[in-house]
Amino acid sequence: MSALRASCHCGAVTIEVPQRPTQLTNCNCSLCRRIGALWAYYEVGTVRVSGHPGHTAEYIWGDKTLRTLRCRHCGVVTHWEPLDPAAGGKHGVNMRNFDPDDLGPVQIRRFDGADSWRFLDDEAGPGA
Ligand SMILES: [Zn+2]
Repeated sequence: MSALRASCHCGAVTIEVPQRPTQLTNCNCSLCRRIGALWAYYEVGTVRVSGHPGHTAEYIWGDKTLRTLRCRHCGVVTHWEPLDPAAGGKHGVNMRNFDPDDLGPVQIRRFDGADSWRFLDDEAGPGA
């Protein structure tokens, strides 16, 4: 297991995660579908971000539990973090910033954040 590093498009914000994700989440909520992010989740404190908050701008919406961060120069969304980071809390990292060769084969799961808050591929088919 080794850390993976990436940056926003212009390089002002870099992000390092402790290991490769085993799955990515493609969420259809009103924000995620616009961003087009593929999220991986890591425990707060395990992700190293440089250039933040100096080079980032934040967006807070809805129930105001987290901030979504983007580079203020190139506009690329890098990650989200809880507004109130508690032990066991999670970060979301936009793995679109990472080199696909570094990521390797990884399952992408569609998450219905717009409605049911379930993974759409969890639905049992006929006869299941
Ligand atoms: Zn940038």
